[in-house]
Formats: sequence, C-alpha cells, structure tokens
Amino acid sequence: MILRCRRGTPEEAVTDIERLLQENGVRTVRSPEARRPILAVLDKLPGGLAEELAASPHIEERAAPAKGAFRQVSRAFQDEPTVVRIGKLRIGPGHPCAVIAGPCSVEGRARVLENAHRVKEAGAHMLRGGAFKPRTSPYAFQGFGVEGLRQLKDAGEAVGLPVISEIMDAAHVPAFVDQGIDCLQIGARNMQNFTLLKAVARAGRPVLLKRGLAATVEEWLLAAEYLMEGGCTQVVLCERGIRTFETATRNTLDLTILPLLRQWTHLPVVVDPAHASGIATLIPTLCRASVAAGADGLAVEVHLEPAIARSDGPQALLPGELKQVVAEARILSSLFG
Ligand code: PEP
Ligand code: MN
Repeated sequence: MILRCRRGTPEEAVTDIERLLQENGVRTVRSPEARRPILAVLDKLPGGLAEELAASPHIEERAAPAKGAFRQVSRAFQDEPTVVRIGKLRIGPGHPCAVIAGPCSVEGRARVLENAHRVKEAGAHMLRGGAFKPRTSPYAFQGFGVEGLRQLKDAGEAVGLPVISEIMDAAHVPAFVDQGIDCLQIGARNMQNFTLLKAVARAGRPVLLKRGLAATVEEWLLAAEYLMEGGCTQVVLCERGIRTFETATRNTLDLTILPLLRQWTHLPVVVDPAHASGIATLIPTLCRASVAAGADGLAVEVHLEPAIARSDGPQALLPGELKQVVAEARILSSLFG
C-alpha cells in the first residue's frame, strides 16, 4: 500500500505517521517525490490501524498498486518519472532517446576499441559489451571475464562513453565495481535470480534489468522492486522480447507493455530489438516502433564484421546502420517524447 499525503503536509505530521506505523511493526519507505510526502507501506497493517490512518486529515489517498505487490516501483510512489543518471547520460522522459550500442561480446582489446570508436561516431550514448556471457551451450564462447570488463572500460574511456556489461554472479560485484563498469546489466536469464538482485542492489551502480524470457510484467516489476528495496533507485527496465509460439523470430517483441508500464511505474524503459528479433534487417523498423511507443532508450548490438562475431552475429548492425538508427531515434523522440 502507498500512502499519499496532501500537498503541504507539515514534516512533523509525516514523521508522526511514520512513527505510528513503526511502533506497530510496519516498515515504511519515504518517496523522493518533492511535490508531496508519499510513503510506501511495506508490511501488512495490523487490525484497526487502517481505520486510524483513513481518519488522518493529512492522508489524501491510500493507493493500491495497479497490480501485485509493487511498492517503490509503483507510479503512485512517485509522481515525477525517474530519470536514471549514468555519468553524463540521462535516461528517462524529457531527455533524448538514449542509445546503448556495442558488440554482443567483448572480443579482444583492439576489436572493442575499434567498435567503441564506431559507435561513438554513430552517436550512441553508452557502450555495451558482454564479458560474462550467458550462453545456451557450454561449448559456445563464454566471454573473457574480468579481462573483458577491463577492455570494455578502457575502450569506453578512450572514446568518452560510459559502459554497461552483464553480471551473472553475485560474487562478481566487486570486480564490476573495481573495473569501473558504469551500469550493471541483469540479463533475461537472471531476472529472477534473487540473490543476484540483492547483491547488485548494494553495488551503488545504476542497473539495467532485462525482462525474463517468460516473465510477466508483474514478475518483472517485482524483480525491480528487489533492486529498489535493496537501495538501488537507478533502475532502467529493458524489454527484450519474450518466448511465444512464434519461431520466425528469435523472440516476440512485446511493445504492448510500453504504455502500460508508463501507468504502472515511474521507472524508465529501454527496448532491445536485437535480442527480440535476432535478425539485423528487422531492427531499424523495430527501433522506430519502440521510440514511437514511448521507449526512453534503445539497446542494439553492433559488429564491424558480423559474419565472424563470436556471438549474435545475425542480429548485429553495422556502424552505418547504427548511425541511421540514432538519427531516427533523435527525430522520433522529439516528436513523441
Ligand atoms: C545480452 O544483452 O547480451 C543478452 C544476453 O541479452 P538477454 O539477457 O536479453 O538475452
Ligand atoms: Mn547478444
């Protein structure tokens, strides 16, 4: 439950409500919303307390979350949309569509550096690259691990872009932080790895949370709630396609949920049409559709020679194609944003 106080409620009155709840064993979290005090109530209210709160002249509404057990991710918890800060980059409403681009996997120092130069030239805002790869087959390229993180960060620094990489293991958090990875990605396969979510929440870095292959929006937002509950307020959601009966594409891009997420959550959303479709030629169109549907950003894969990529070559854009995607996203986000 979310308690929304009237605008202008004196601070003393808010702390009285917080104290009353705390004395009854109910935990609360204060929203960062500046325009009015808002409290997320984390535990069930004991009998009688709900009536007492309802009688308070300071509480305007008791908002039940749209669905499920959302608290801090809920739209009712924050009227202002969250704008996630990653270095100088801003992801969220009121800012240009953020384009995350780079290779699927970091494939070596020279290649990731060349890739970084090309995505920077194309106008992308953050460099991606996997160093710990979640591969279906144990025989497929698994990534260069910490050395890959180092190469990615060096490439990002060389061209002046923040970097993002996928973390698969809670034990790797210190390595990601030590290597200066600016944003931690939780991949689709780990969306409900709760131990990982808790550890990443404490890393003090922004997080990009991908939707699970078969996750409902409710499950996805509750995974984001784990991050926020753990102290991470800088969460970006990433729609990357879900499993359906369709086999013509790698997954099915679910754009239906973009306007729905706007109603349910204050968190920004980016769309990854690369892992959704698996087919490079479809990606520019899907990028346009995503921005028109309200995406705050796009995540795509880029390779200079897709035919020899160590992973996901068929969905890699060429740098020239990325340039076009960035230019179109800029125009469309100014039209629809
Ligand atoms: C990736 O971004 O490289 C990746 C593995 O994506 P996903 O978790 O969406 O499959
Ligand atoms: Mn990939």
